[in-house]
Amino acid sequence: SAKDEGRGIYKFFEMEMGAQLRDRRLLEHDARHAVVRNELSLVYQPQVDIKSGEVTGFEALVRWDHPERGRISPAEFIPVAEDSGLILQIGEWVLRHACQQAAKWQNPLSIAINVSPVQLHAPQFPALVCEILFETGLAPNRLEIEVTETALVKNMSRALSALRQIKALGVKVAMDDFGTGYSSLSNLRAFPFDKLKVDQSFIKSVDSNGQSAAIVQAVLGLGKGLNLPVLAEGVERPEELEFLRGAVCQSAQGYWFGRPQTIDVYEAITSGTTTNLDTIDFEPMRER
Ligand code: C2E
Ligand code: MG
Ligand code: MG
Ligand code: MG
Repeated sequence: SAKDEGRGIYKFFEMEMGAQLRDRRLLEHDARHAVVRNELSLVYQPQVDIKSGEVTGFEALVRWDHPERGRISPAEFIPVAEDSGLILQIGEWVLRHACQQAAKWQNPLSIAINVSPVQLHAPQFPALVCEILFETGLAPNRLEIEVTETALVKNMSRALSALRQIKALGVKVAMDDFGTGYSSLSNLRAFPFDKLKVDQSFIKSVDSNGQSAAIVQAVLGLGKGLNLPVLAEGVERPEELEFLRGAVCQSAQGYWFGRPQTIDVYEAITSGTTTNLDTIDFEPMRER
C-alpha cells in the first residue's frame, strides 16, 4: 500500500542520514591523525598578471590523501575540520609548510594561503603568523592570506582586529570568493583588503553570459574606484581571458594557466628561469 511505501521511503532516508553521520564521524576521527601521519600535502596554482602574462605568485591548496579512501577534497574535509576545531592544527600546518616552501624560491613570488573563519577568530592567530614568518624568514609582503566574507560576519570586531594585526606585520589580505555568500559592500569599506578575488562562478562563460559580464564589470569598477586590484578565479578558456583583458582586470588564476600541482612542476618559475607558463612542459589540464 501507499502507507507501506511511505514507511519504506522513511526507512530509506533514516538509513541514508545514519550513513552520512557515520561517514562524517569517521572522517573527523581520521582527520585527527592526518597531520601526524603526514597525509596532508600542498598543491600550488599560479596567479598571472594579465597585462604582462607573467606569474606573480601561487595559491597553496591543501590535499588529504586518506590511506584507504584516497584523495579527499578540501571542500569535504575542511568543513568537518572546522566543526571539530581540528582546522587550527591543519591551518597551522598549511601556513608553516607554504611559508617554508616560498622562502626557498629564488624568485620572490607571492604565496596566498586560505584562512578559515575559525582560524581568523582564534586569538593567537596573528601571533602565529608572526612566529611562522620569523621562523621561515619569508618576507611578510610576500604572504597573502585569503579570507571569505563568512569569516567577517561572525564577529566583525574580532575579525577586524585580527586583520589589522596581520596587516601591521606587512602581510597582504585578499577577499576570496567575492560576490558569493554573505557579500556586503560595506565589508569593502570596513576591512583593509589589498585584493578582491572574483568568484569563479562569475567568470564561467563571462564572454557569452551578459549577466556574468555585467557583474564582473561592476566589480572591476568597484576595484578601480577603491584602488583594489581584482583577480579573476577559475579562468578555463581563452575567451574568458580575452574578456577580462578587455575589461582591464589585473590578474587571473585558473585551469587555463595551470592546475594546482605539486611545486616541482613549476620549478622553472620558482627558480626564476622563466615567468612564462608557456615554456613549462606539463599537461595543464591534469592535477598531479
Ligand atoms: P578557493 O580558495 O576559492 O580555491 C579555488 C578552488 O577552485 C580550488 O579548489 C581550485 O582547485 C579550484 N580551481 C582553480 N582553478 C579552477 C578552474 O579553472 N576551474 C574550476 N572549476 N576550478 C578551479 P580546491 O583546491 O578543491 O579547494 C576548494 C576550497 O577549499 C578552496 O576554495 C578553499 O576555500 C578551501 N581550501 C583549500 N585549501 C585550503 C586550506 O589550506 N585551508 C583552508 N581553510 N581552506 C582551504
Ligand atoms: Mg582561495
Ligand atoms: Mg575562491
Ligand atoms: Mg572557494
